[in-house]
Amino acid sequence: MSLKSIFKPLGLIIATLSLTANTAFVQASDDLVIYSSRTVNLIQPLIDGFKKQHNINVKLMTGKDEALIERLKMEGRNSPADVLMTVDAGNLGLAAEKGLFQPLNLGPTEVVVPAHLQDSNGLWTGLSLRARTIIYNPKLVDVKSLTTYEDLANPMWKGKLCLRTSKKVYNKSLAASFVAHFGEQKTLEIFKGWVSNLATKPFAKDSEVIKAVNSGQCAVGIVNTYYVYRNQSKNPQSVAKLFWANQETTGTHINISGAGITKYANNKENAKLFLAYLLSNEAQKIFADLNHEFSIAQLVSKTATLPFKADNLPITKLHTEQFKGVKLMQIAGYE
Ligand code: FE
Repeated sequence: MSLKSIFKPLGLIIATLSLTANTAFVQASDDLVIYSSRTVNLIQPLIDGFKKQHNINVKLMTGKDEALIERLKMEGRNSPADVLMTVDAGNLGLAAEKGLFQPLNLGPTEVVVPAHLQDSNGLWTGLSLRARTIIYNPKLVDVKSLTTYEDLANPMWKGKLCLRTSKKVYNKSLAASFVAHFGEQKTLEIFKGWVSNLATKPFAKDSEVIKAVNSGQCAVGIVNTYYVYRNQSKNPQSVAKLFWANQETTGTHINISGAGITKYANNKENAKLFLAYLLSNEAQKIFADLNHEFSIAQLVSKTATLPFKADNLPITKLHTEQFKGVKLMQIAGYE
């Protein structure tokens, strides 16, 4: 008899017990299959930590976000996957829209994810935070002249701005946040201003934006912060500096890495144990250290250890407003 069929009649009681690290209900032979867009080195220490606590055999398959979502869709009820871990609320929203998740019903977790960082239908949850903000070359820019993302549309930045392509989901989600905060008209004006301020054609990668800011090809850019921290540890002489955008207004744009339990998971209870582990203080620390991200624990801690004020927009907006955001980037000619 499968665990699934044992648990079903007992309902809620078992669901709660299974979250209290009660491994008596889980046999060593039970597997957990994870599809992850995070590379092995970014996820393996979390799997190792989980294995130490629960005697569960984990299988990991990594791939690109879009490919994993497509694969899950194609495999349907035959999919071996129990958990989909990915980055960006846009990707998680897309997977949910395609019907690939089932309700999480995680119950109490050690670190409580704020409601605005979870799916409003309870199909996925954020696990760590990433910030997308302004980067500048201090030899070319007086930091006092920096304020907001919107202000980079000001003609004073003509020929000085570097951006990553609008095709990347990180920028699609940023665009969605603008639509949610400022409305479509103002968002279009921002993108038109950005395009006319470009120093060069948009780059394929955040790391290329950082390189261009470092070299002085451009004075300012917009990137995810973990690329900057990685760059600084590899090249201590790099000059590019982070600026926390919109501190006086909406807060710096954040996105999440997150996960959901697949609709046809064979090992649902193990999947719940895994997600509960990822929301433990131990795993949250690993999350933050591994990829220079920020943990959800840092956001909810009373001793507030995030180095910036984060945008508190419901993260689902990054998916629901994305279509409008993408359309506006196209109209503005942002490639
Ligand atoms: Fe990335």
